[in-house]
Amino acid sequence: MATIDGRREDALGPSRGMGGFLADIFRYTNRPLGRLLVDGLLAARALVFVGRRYVCPCCGWRLRAFTHGGMSLRVRPSGYCPRCNSKARHRRDWLLLESNTDLFAAQLRLLHVSPKYSLARRFARMKNIDYVAGDLEARPHVSMRFDLISLPLQSETFDAAICIHVLEHVEDDRQALREIFRVLKPGGWTLISAPIRLDHPTYEDATIVAPADRLEAFGETDHVRWYGHDLADRLTEAGFTPELHRASDIDEATKERFGLLSDENVFLCRKPHAH
Ligand SMILES: [Zn+2]
Repeated sequence: MATIDGRREDALGPSRGMGGFLADIFRYTNRPLGRLLVDGLLAARALVFVGRRYVCPCCGWRLRAFTHGGMSLRVRPSGYCPRCNSKARHRRDWLLLESNTDLFAAQLRLLHVSPKYSLARRFARMKNIDYVAGDLEARPHVSMRFDLISLPLQSETFDAAICIHVLEHVEDDRQALREIFRVLKPGGWTLISAPIRLDHPTYEDATIVAPADRLEAFGETDHVRWYGHDLADRLTEAGFTPELHRASDIDEATKERFGLLSDENVFLCRKPHAH
């Protein structure tokens, strides 16, 4: 069965001790009290980490160090933001969205697939965005449940779509891409990212299904492939005009300032006006 459940990739990171317990409250409850508790604890932790060295673009917090995620107080270089639990990839994606899209200026309808807390909490509050967030399971910030290979959404009704580290979980990723293409308006854009090895072709094997085997072959127990440079071809097949933004092109000062890693290659794709 196709899955877009990115539980292992959840914004709060690995479960561990009391932090893990609180992270689980966060992951699995939509109850206002639980949400308030987690938001309050993150805000309190942010005070412990206030500083001048780094900036998290996702929440705007200025901090002295990144952490291990959850509610951890342990320092981890280029780890999670202590205020919003963004991962390095979310900070990279945020900066890319700021500099290369109209997400922060235009009035637009946004589809966010399998949203993570650090991004969803901001998008949901932005006045210029009509925000629709969907996932297979009910989770915080998820406004509708769906399977990405069969979206219960009208064609050509979104200006933009964001799909971060989802496709590597989806068996029929070509169908998923066709669905994203379908619901976008002509001229609309989508940010697509996934684990990509640019020096390899895509590696997938439908006979590898056991979690331990998938971990060994694809890097995670619930991944079904490693993408290669030819992800661009799949995007083109779906109808998009893809534009690759390489992690290796990020300058060192930006990496240092925002706590980025060199592993988030991103495709910004445009749905042509006439097709
Ligand atoms: Zn943050």
